[in-house]
Amino acid sequence: MLEACHISSGVEAAVDLANTWKPVKGEDTLETVEQLQEFLADHPSVGGGSRTCASRRLTRADLTEVRALRETVRRVLEESSIDAVAAAALINDGLRRSHATPVLRHEDGRWWTEVTSDTDRCAAHLAATTLSALARVIATLGPTRLGVCAGPRCRATYVDLSRNGSKQYCTRTCAHRASVAAYRSRHSTS
Ligand SMILES: [Zn+2]
Repeated sequence: MLEACHISSGVEAAVDLANTWKPVKGEDTLETVEQLQEFLADHPSVGGGSRTCASRRLTRADLTEVRALRETVRRVLEESSIDAVAAAALINDGLRRSHATPVLRHEDGRWWTEVTSDTDRCAAHLAATTLSALARVIATLGPTRLGVCAGPRCRATYVDLSRNGSKQYCTRTCAHRASVAAYRSRHSTS
């Protein structure tokens, strides 16, 4: 269902993009064109990857567009489990504006479909990949699979692709920290 690697790499890129902004710490790791280049190098199979984003010189305009996309992706991840209709509207609007187009690909004897953009804008390719991946998760696993870490000092976003869908924390580290805090508070009040 979601095994196809380009779907999970699209999901991973969406979450990683949203988490370049850390609201609790007020940290932003997507402030320069160099940081955008690094982000794209870390996610080579998305955003038209080697084709559109990496093959051209990125500018401040690309950065501005990707930062605007980040806001949309983050809102989708935050709102999906609360108001799925609003999240769907954001996804559909983003896909429309990026001129998202499904294409059938063939390589090494394998066929697969992916959603790409028919423009030459890097942000539009990134939008097509990330928003279509989130749409696929909502359509196959449900809107509550997108969420925000329950860690009180975290607020990172996540997508839960697990079998039982019980994820509440972005990472094991956050889950562990929360269970230690709960244990301490139980023992300090008794
Ligand atoms: Zn967390």
